Amino acid sequence: MKLAVLRETAQGETRVAAIPETAKKFAALGARVAVEAGAGAAASVPDGDFAAAGAEVGSRAEVLHDADLILCVSGPEPDSLAGARAGALLIGALDPFRRADAVRGYAAAGLQALAMEWMPRITRAQSMDILSSQSNLAGYKAVIDAAAAYGRAFPMMMTAAGTVSPARVFVMGVGVAGLQAIATARRLGAQVSATDVRSATREQIQSLGAKPIFVEGVAGIEGEGQGGYAGETSDEYRRAQAELVSSHLSKQDIVITTALIPGKPAPRLISDAQLATMRPGSVVVDLAADAGGNVEGTVCGERAQRHGVTILGALNLARSLPADASALFARNLYNFLSAFWDKDSGGAVLPADDEIVRAITLTRDGQVVAERLASA
Ligand code: NAD
Repeated sequence: MKLAVLRETAQGETRVAAIPETAKKFAALGARVAVEAGAGAAASVPDGDFAAAGAEVGSRAEVLHDADLILCVSGPEPDSLAGARAGALLIGALDPFRRADAVRGYAAAGLQALAMEWMPRITRAQSMDILSSQSNLAGYKAVIDAAAAYGRAFPMMMTAAGTVSPARVFVMGVGVAGLQAIATARRLGAQVSATDVRSATREQIQSLGAKPIFVEGVAGIEGEGQGGYAGETSDEYRRAQAELVSSHLSKQDIVITTALIPGKPAPRLISDAQLATMRPGSVVVDLAADAGGNVEGTVCGERAQRHGVTILGALNLARSLPADASALFARNLYNFLSAFWDKDSGGAVLPADDEIVRAITLTRDGQVVAERLASA
């Protein structure tokens, strides 16, 4: 069983799909690990560290030749996989909704493509979940970036020259990223409040020492929501939420928005008129920028200014922590493959009827088989 680790070629990608620790663990399972030269450079992992972990380091053609498993972070262009053998598994964050042509290309090349971002939210798959591991880092980095862009301090400081007030941070959307944003802002000494549409998050917010801001008297989404995801809320709820946000926003210094609805554009949570009520110098970080943005005026991947408020249109913040993001991503891949490792055949065996395999398989035997793509 040969496992290939690709050097990423997608614009802005800094991560790598294996680290020496996981390369060593795959080797311990009996795999021959081949890493494309320079694969870890942007994540501060020199080729020599992979070699010391027992991996072969070579060109793209060399690592692809005869590979059974091909690991990547962002999905490569199908043309760049020429030389891969039909039947090999291609595993990574393949972004299938936005890269339907590439998915068809993988099928045409006979590759079995697996999209790690479609991992089901079940207990067994928690350690394989790239969305959680990367969102966690993004939630942390959003607060760090906000602090860097904010012209004031986060903690309260009592000095001989007077008192510096603590920053007021409001987190909108309390999933994995939001919870980490709350924890990080609290560690920096801010006064933190947070809101979500899923009622189960109220206790989670309180347990982190932040204040829950919730619409009262109008039903949002009960409990955790379907599979932990929010669906769309009623018009009545959205109106009540907008009113609540308006009265709260004008008193906030930093806002981190993370609200996403799977398969839909991100919900609009902050309008231009609401931004205008915020104090000049305030900072908004929109973690949903890539999905259309929670904030009016967000420019994806850029820094914008509206009414004296800085809006950071955050794009894949995990990429700005490449070493940690790679380590967590690589362990997610290892946890997935090792759970399906068959000692006798010395490789991963993926039963087509397994809940996890079914959820993430995009292509098999030359066909696109993912139902979610057929209905998209
Ligand atoms: P997400 O990225 O899909 O969405 C971010 C947050 O935005 C969610 O909390 C959502 O409820 C919220 N949101 C949506 N619309 C909103 C609106 N209009 N206003 C305010 N908030 C809004 O969520 P996520 O970070 O992936 O996680 C959601 C849940 O799933 C969490 O409870 C998490 O613990 C759970 N989860 C479980 C597993 C597992 O069991 N394997 C894996 C990942 C996540």
